[in-house]
Amino acid sequence: MTAYDPRSLKAEEFIHDGEIRETLAYAEANKNNVELIDQLLEKARPKKSGKGYTCAGLTHREASVLLACEIPEKIEEMYRIAEEIKLAFYGNRIVLFAPLYLSNYCVNGCLYCPYHLKNKHIPRKKLTQEEVREEVIALQDMGHKRLAIEAGEDPVNNPIEYILDCIHTIYSVHHKNGDIRRVNVNIAATTVENYRKLKEAGIGTYILFQETYHKDSYLTLHPTGPKHDYAYHTEAMDRAMEGGIDDVGLGVLFGLELYKYEFAGLLMHAEHLEAVHGVGPHTISVPRLKRADDIDPDDFDNGISDEIFEKIIACIRLAVPYTGMIISTRESEKVRSKALRIGISQVSGGSRTSVGGYAGYDEKERPHDTEQFDVSDQRSLDEVVRWLMENGHIPSFCTACYREGRTGDRFMSLCKSGQILNCCHPNALMTLSEYLEDYASPETREIGYRLIEKELKRIPNEKVHDIAVQNMEAIRASNRRDFRF
Ligand code: SAM
Repeated sequence: MTAYDPRSLKAEEFIHDGEIRETLAYAEANKNNVELIDQLLEKARPKKSGKGYTCAGLTHREASVLLACEIPEKIEEMYRIAEEIKLAFYGNRIVLFAPLYLSNYCVNGCLYCPYHLKNKHIPRKKLTQEEVREEVIALQDMGHKRLAIEAGEDPVNNPIEYILDCIHTIYSVHHKNGDIRRVNVNIAATTVENYRKLKEAGIGTYILFQETYHKDSYLTLHPTGPKHDYAYHTEAMDRAMEGGIDDVGLGVLFGLELYKYEFAGLLMHAEHLEAVHGVGPHTISVPRLKRADDIDPDDFDNGISDEIFEKIIACIRLAVPYTGMIISTRESEKVRSKALRIGISQVSGGSRTSVGGYAGYDEKERPHDTEQFDVSDQRSLDEVVRWLMENGHIPSFCTACYREGRTGDRFMSLCKSGQILNCCHPNALMTLSEYLEDYASPETREIGYRLIEKELKRIPNEKVHDIAVQNMEAIRASNRRDFRF
């Protein structure tokens, strides 16, 4: 029997089954322990410090107690604190992105994914570089600046050289005033050498979902192919960091295993990265299992209700306050609305989950043949942008942090310094004004400019305010773009 060790580089020692089981027992035993719950809520609350805020966060054990708690007033309090943290560190900005599916060739046997090798009727497709260009132009014409590229695992059809070529192509396309300024990558676990190549290609975040932290279930759910190797998959983020990528994104696919187990595992993974590399995950995604080609979510026993899903999001927000949280179009407008208030900082919009799903289709037309899963939120990017603004958020197309070298733990320093309103906030407004000028419908544009006028007043530093105003005037009057602090 191995011992639990967050500093270990061995999967089974930092995601330790015994520790998770003890955590769940501890959480169950304390779920009505009001005194402890109050202490934890107090610990999680953001504290004013100097000009900014700091937040202590919670350990996996502490956060698991809150997740287990069923006392309605305490749950309401969790949501309130999650909202406070969200506002203290992320303000009302929401970053937008879109997935770009490059290839659905895959040699794995994942039981929940329609791209699995045994699916012989799904058409297999891999974009040529010319098709990548066309997809990128379509995405730029929607207004996107930030993409997450997606591909199945197939060393013959999608080798790392192919992925690198695609990244190069994506960054090279400049259509009208458009460009893609950050490419995040969601591809299968790979070697340190390949992670180094991705880093050199200028990627933003490397994202890899664990799917499930429960080893036995993992082995059953990934019966064949390279992804069957639990340790290789679970240790991927350490290799990515060794390869120089310091922004990594975690996630589990909720619905595969018991959510309390996954939640504890996810936070242990975050603690492990912090303990070993001195920096936690840049983002956490919260995908839920969806219907897809030959996949029926009802065949899996661990689906969670919207209420539980929201509680998970709030508890993650309390536990890792400086980590960005991502919700995709797997979720409906209604679920996304609440999730945004209680912790989410990035959303996808106008997404297509098929290979070649953007170019040649109009906003309402949606190819299904190579789709990875059903999309619940089928609105266009313009509709999503407008909806965000109508709900008090600032849609942001900002990619400044990583381009200014603010990766790894530097976002945390920015939060603590209290400079967010002099940096991220004006960046969000400037990138929004680019969007309004170049891509928005007249109605969205009108709402957007009203919002910008109001939000400009919140920039504390007069000089920063004036520069932001000047830059936005330049955006309106010319083709000058890409201003940033
Ligand atoms: N192939 C890469 C890998 O193995 O990690 C990653 C790319 S895959 C296109 C992206 C993610 O989609 C997977 O990690 C999985 O969590 C998610 N996914 C697969 N099937 C899904 C389904 N039926 N519903 C929702 N999400 C799904």
